[in-house]
Amino acid sequence: MFKKFGLIAAAAMLATGAFSSANAADVIRVGTEATYAPFEFMDENAKPQGYDIDIINAIGEAMGYEVEVVNMPFDGLIPALMTSQIDAVIAAMTITEERAKRVDFSEPYYKSGLSVLILEQNKDKYKTLESLKGQPLCAQIGTTGAMKAEELSPGNAKSFNTEPEAFMELKAGGCQGVVNDRPVNLYYLSSNASEGVIEMSEMITAEDYGIAVNKGNTEMKQIIDEGLKKIRDNGKFAEIHKKWFKVAQ
Ligand code: GLN
Repeated sequence: MFKKFGLIAAAAMLATGAFSSANAADVIRVGTEATYAPFEFMDENAKPQGYDIDIINAIGEAMGYEVEVVNMPFDGLIPALMTSQIDAVIAAMTITEERAKRVDFSEPYYKSGLSVLILEQNKDKYKTLESLKGQPLCAQIGTTGAMKAEELSPGNAKSFNTEPEAFMELKAGGCQGVVNDRPVNLYYLSSNASEGVIEMSEMITAEDYGIAVNKGNTEMKQIIDEGLKKIRDNGKFAEIHKKWFKVAQ
């Protein structure tokens, strides 16, 4: 749990004699969904890795906090945050109006957007997004991709717990397209697993990723925003971007 009390809160607790754990570690518990390479995924030792993991660790380091990454299903992240099981979420999570009603977001930290993957054998059949109407489309549950799939082909969107499952379903012929964040699609296309899969040229949206905190948790938001600023200023942010995307941001 987040254990750094605000001065006023700590003073109030001292006054009431409620202050007990004097040397509790300052740990930020951060939820993610680690099947979303290159942003978050498990390495061979089942340790979370990726761009987001590096970013949140760098923020923790810059601000003097230990970061504990907790892996959970994507559609469980906001509920876990709202019930204070975690202090923040970093999960390639798009800042949307809908989510902003339930959580607060840090400053945007990554520019993303959606694209659609189809089988190469269908490239003449699906030349436009419009042509996907009426076709089964796959996406990850609770994502902006899932919402877009429903919009492109109403009543025909199929949701999966993880993106790799959606990719497999496309290859197995269970759906005609996968709607997903473009950087994750491109990462998948660069792997052997994607043989026979291509990206449609028509792009869909521009989206910003943010780190979510509990609604009204201004202290946590401030720590994250300040940490983000620090790592932008000291070059760490650019270094992490280069490490995962090979190009300067
Ligand atoms: N950016 C998308 C969203 O926020 C997908 C995130 C994800 O699958 N981890 O809905």
